[in-house]
Amino acid sequence: MLLKLGELVLKGLNRGNFEKRLMKNLAWRIRKFGAFKIYCMQSTIYVEPESGDCDMDAAFDAAKKVFGIVNISRAAECKKDIDEIISVAKEYLAPTLSLAKTFKVEAKRADKSFPKKSPEIAIEVGSALHDAFENLEVDVKNPEVCVRVEIRDKAAYVHANPTPGAGGLPIGINGRAGLLLSGGIDSPVAAYMMAKRGVELFGIHFFSYPYTSERAKQKVISLAGIVGEYAGNIKIAMVPFTKIQEEIRANCREEYFTLIMRRFMMYIAEKIAAENGCGALITGESLGQVASQTMEALGVTEYGITLPVLRPVIGMDKEEIVEIARKINTFETSILPYEDCCTVFTPKHPRTKPKLEYVLSEEKKLPFAELAEEAIRNTEII
Ligand code: ATP
Ligand code: MG
Repeated sequence: MLLKLGELVLKGLNRGNFEKRLMKNLAWRIRKFGAFKIYCMQSTIYVEPESGDCDMDAAFDAAKKVFGIVNISRAAECKKDIDEIISVAKEYLAPTLSLAKTFKVEAKRADKSFPKKSPEIAIEVGSALHDAFENLEVDVKNPEVCVRVEIRDKAAYVHANPTPGAGGLPIGINGRAGLLLSGGIDSPVAAYMMAKRGVELFGIHFFSYPYTSERAKQKVISLAGIVGEYAGNIKIAMVPFTKIQEEIRANCREEYFTLIMRRFMMYIAEKIAAENGCGALITGESLGQVASQTMEALGVTEYGITLPVLRPVIGMDKEEIVEIARKINTFETSILPYEDCCTVFTPKHPRTKPKLEYVLSEEKKLPFAELAEEAIRNTEII
């Protein structure tokens, strides 16, 4: 497999770090599919199977989900011999070449002991393919298929049009953030989007047993697993939220339930995030989607929080969010019908334009910090 590195290369920023991270992430992701040799040369990462029992299909699928890679191709390996190269190219690329109208061949000779120079290799392979596929014409400027031949130390490699990679930046290159992960559609998408920007995720989930079930918890764990195919392993802090919700219900005015609850979530999440080396919080809030996501409500929600709150889906329509959820395969799990703690005590008439001072004075009816500390003490990280 040959993987082309993404945008940091273009910006020339801290390239060594980018490559090292990416190779480490990639090695971790494909480790279960066999023993591979992974190295980087000229903005390309090479992944070579070290034995015959490597599952290349599975490794290829996993590599397509590794952030920091713009495109990937699977190359056929062959002996460093021009006739071998031609016959492998004909056979391996037949599915692509037999459907194309135009092509060209590019050759690269890393092993300078190979007797033919790059242009000669390109011409010989090109004319052999031209003879073999009657549908093909040569177009050096804008070919449909660009066949590449690489003569490397160990072997020669033949490949053609690459498939798109996951894009983005390698996980970890942009720090770590606390992800408020619910069982809904939006927060897994928010997770994917920030992971794509190179952020390592630390999940935080609030559950209200027995109002929310064990299955609701399992659903969140499954979602973290699905997003984890892109984002890497995600730990989750499971915060017991029942007592806080019951206290709010018993003591505060109904129209402020949701806002006070969300302020607890942010307060607790910030503490847990900070304890776990996170530099920001991430939520799946989208402007105007529900009563607690108006501009005023968001202002109340994050009042007093000092970590930056990243809301990558803030400007997206539900349809756009769903489209990503389908693409990353979280959608079907997200729509499983288990209650989230947010929906357990939903007020009939929530405030859409809350006044901060009213919310704060309602909140003062509770021992806010003590309740939050107790929940944090009883939090389990899984
Ligand atoms: P989602 O689809 O992500 O559940 P939503 O549209 O249902 O979002 P809310 O329920 O208001 O919106 O939640 C807004 C955000 O608050 C979520 O995207 C998530 O980041 C966070 N959140 C909500 N409920 C929880 C929870 N039980 N645990 C952790 N975070 C939560
Ligand atoms: Mg929700």
